[in-house]
Amino acid sequence: MGEPDREADDGRLYVPAWEDGWRVRIKTTWEREYCFAMKSGEDFYHLLMAGEIYMQFDDEKFCMECAMRRGVLSRNRLHWKRGES
Ligand SMILES: [Zn+2]
Repeated sequence: MGEPDREADDGRLYVPAWEDGWRVRIKTTWEREYCFAMKSGEDFYHLLMAGEIYMQFDDEKFCMECAMRRGVLSRNRLHWKRGES
């Protein structure tokens, strides 16, 4: 049989929107930069830390939390199936 179905606890992450220009970056400076999104219920922007992995689209930067919430980052290995008709 094939490999066991362990997608649920698979720690890998996917970027379904990579073709739209989304990129994964690592913050390499201590310069103050903030996540472009704000979580509903919060009234502050997330500070990105040096060494933090974040996502970028043009000049807009998003922490992984917000990227995940917006669906530009996914744990679903079969994300590519979703858009197919
Ligand atoms: Zn954020």
